[in-house]
Amino acid sequence: MRIVLLGPPGAGKGTQAVMLAAANKIPHISTGEMLRQAVQEGSALGKQVKAVLDRGDLVSDEVMIALLRERMSKQDCAPGFLLDGFPRTLPQAQALDRMLKELSKELTHVIEIAVPERVLIDRIKSRGASGSGRSDDTEEVASKRLKVFWELTAPVIAYYREAKRLIEVDGLGTIEEVASRIHAVLS
Ligand code: ADP
Repeated sequence: MRIVLLGPPGAGKGTQAVMLAAANKIPHISTGEMLRQAVQEGSALGKQVKAVLDRGDLVSDEVMIALLRERMSKQDCAPGFLLDGFPRTLPQAQALDRMLKELSKELTHVIEIAVPERVLIDRIKSRGASGSGRSDDTEEVASKRLKVFWELTAPVIAYYREAKRLIEVDGLGTIEEVASRIHAVLS
């Protein structure tokens, strides 16, 4: 399975991604996690992206596409993968299509976890309050990340929808409820 999981910040994407990847025995590729790890390690990439992450902006397409290309070339991705946080812009979605085409492969499932906007800010705020440890979980940065989502990532969802490749899953309810909806569309 080659899955893309899409959804706004606060949709519960990360939680669902971890469960879904484990259940299907495929690597969970979270570009946000990869970047946060680079920042923690103090690598060249980490130094380059820290300020961008803290502002709630997006890292450049060029950097992200190169990062993903390298990650997808690893052996563990041969049986499949789950992408969480990529593609986040239209150029990234197009680059992903090209990358897979070179490998004569296709995405098997593009899943959107849909949550109404008003619910999202509340969720992000409570995640920040409960101490996620993420420096981008303040109210101010959270609303910035939502704004960036509507501007740059919503077009990615539209791109897959127009190509009739999008599976929309209702993201309201408990973690288990959402997980079982996703499970249902995969089987
Ligand atoms: P969330 O789970 O809140 O949606 P992520 O953990 O996926 O956030 O990403 C955190 C931050 O990492 C983003 O706000 C952005 O700065 C950066 N980032 C992650 N993936 C990408 C990407 N594909 N393109 C550009 N920036 C990215």
